[in-house]
Amino acid sequence: ASRAFNNRPTFTGLVVVLAASSGGGLVAYADSQPDQPQGFKKKKVVVLGTGWAGTTFLRNLDSKLYDVQVISPRNYFAFTPLLPSVTCGTVEPRSVVEPIRRILEKKGGDFKFWEAECFKIDPANKKIHCRSNMGTNLDGNGEFLVDYDYLVVAVGARSNTFNTPGVTENCHFLKEVEDAQKIRRSVMDCFEKASLPYLNEEERKKNLHFVVVGGGPTGVEFAAELHDFVTEDLSKLYPSIQHLVKISLIEAADHILTMFDKRITNFAEDKFGRDGIDVKTGYKVVKVSKDAITMQNPATGDIAVPYGMAVWSTGIGTRPFVVDFMKQIGQANRRVLATDEWLRVRECDDVYAVGDCATINQRRVMEDISEIFRVADKDKSGTLTVKEIQDILEDIYVRYPQVKLYMKSKQLNGIADLIRTGKGDTEKESVELNIEEFKKALSLVDSQVKNLPATAQVAAQQGQYLATCFNKMQTAEQNPEGPIRIRGEGRHRFNPFRYRHLGQFAPLGGEQTAAQLPGDWVSIGHSSQWLWYSVYATKQISWRTRALVISDWGRRFIFGRDSSGI
Ligand code: FAD
Repeated sequence: ASRAFNNRPTFTGLVVVLAASSGGGLVAYADSQPDQPQGFKKKKVVVLGTGWAGTTFLRNLDSKLYDVQVISPRNYFAFTPLLPSVTCGTVEPRSVVEPIRRILEKKGGDFKFWEAECFKIDPANKKIHCRSNMGTNLDGNGEFLVDYDYLVVAVGARSNTFNTPGVTENCHFLKEVEDAQKIRRSVMDCFEKASLPYLNEEERKKNLHFVVVGGGPTGVEFAAELHDFVTEDLSKLYPSIQHLVKISLIEAADHILTMFDKRITNFAEDKFGRDGIDVKTGYKVVKVSKDAITMQNPATGDIAVPYGMAVWSTGIGTRPFVVDFMKQIGQANRRVLATDEWLRVRECDDVYAVGDCATINQRRVMEDISEIFRVADKDKSGTLTVKEIQDILEDIYVRYPQVKLYMKSKQLNGIADLIRTGKGDTEKESVELNIEEFKKALSLVDSQVKNLPATAQVAAQQGQYLATCFNKMQTAEQNPEGPIRIRGEGRHRFNPFRYRHLGQFAPLGGEQTAAQLPGDWVSIGHSSQWLWYSVYATKQISWRTRALVISDWGRRFIFGRDSSGI
């Protein structure tokens, strides 16, 4: 199957989803199905990962068309947006997970799941090397090989410590359900330790100092949850020490929630100030020891602060086996796997990457935009009407919503000025469009347009898009005339992936949430909290988890959160 950019992409072959695989060796091709032509051999699709991207892909894939193998070290899907709620017992861990076998069984069809992790991708031989985390097979090392026709890499990311000394050993992360459970136990341990009779006041204060490093959405939501847990539940149970509790939120940038609208950032900082959460912006954590966190600020120099529990939530990094794979395919200098707009891993046949482990190469996006303008301007000698430019921009926005978001954020002054020159009758009035000037402005965008955010929303949309492409593969082969290509001659079989931003939430505690919806519509307060409840109840993966999550919320309203340390 050719993957060259100037050729039509083909989607024939076996799809392998990296999730988990049974006992080892090469995997046999499945028999042809009764509704397929005689002699039809299903391609093997291997899917790595059962998170947002992998599970959405599997749920939308037509299981009759492929022999699908799913490989993942965890045999369930986790609804990550509710993990901060799990840390404080607002929602129970089992309410946010759904067994992958149940999801696959509901779909029916030819799926196999193996609980194992991939530790090496061998694209030259189209094989992946896996290891069962149960650690046993006939050879005793739990390792086995799986071959694929198509590989879908949906392995997400790991927490990034930026090599800060002591973080791995002393801090909690908040990435998996187990992390949230550990945090919950640790919070209770801190309270119990601080209540012991032989401690002096300083020691009690140290145990009750909760530090959150990273002022992004996860860190902010955890700090808000913890504050609610302490004020609404624990203060009644530990009245003698509740005044010693301190929550600090440390952020290296000048503000928290920098990816949100300024109004939300300001509201969050003011609210946390009123709640007594110590927001320290402009501080960079440089070391974490067993007893103290050391942070740096140009004005104050190094400060070492004693703490009882620390949660590290500063961003994500690439998994080591993905780094190894990137080296093999000439992407060693990149931060995450680069794909094209059809989510195919660059320079690697029949491998697709979706979700947090991948990004669409922005340089390519900029080349495409430049090309769109060049083609439109061909017979116009650098002069387009304002209306024509607006039409071109609409086209660009549809293909690349991140460019629109960027334009909206008013940082794209170079291009915006070029476009705003025309006034009056936009149908007739021309505006000088100097292509060289335009390219200069584009280079500004190239360095600054942000990658799609690493969110469940992006991962799920990519999983769904890719499944649609796989489902249409056979039809597309019979009728290869697809939508118009952006670059070069001919037509492309599938539309490129387009992300639709549906908005984002930042729960801030005290039954208040900030919501930033499409069109830069911002809503903050109690009404947004109810919107948050409705959206997250709706987005649950099954009726079972929906019922469990709603009943957990109800239980918390009536009885409060459970404070036992289990
Ligand atoms: P994941 O969902 O992380 O799934 C990765 C899968 O790969 C897992 O099944 C894992 O077990 C598997 N895997 C790992 N290593 C291997 C291997 N070697 N071989 C095979 N499989 C492997 N996003 C939002 O849009 N809204 C939110 O409110 C939100 N809140 C969040 C709160 C928290 C606490 C966290 C941690 C994240 C939140 N996110 C949110 C981000 C969102 O969870 C991620 O962007 C999303 O999970 C990415 O999906 P993914 O499929 O790429 O990766």
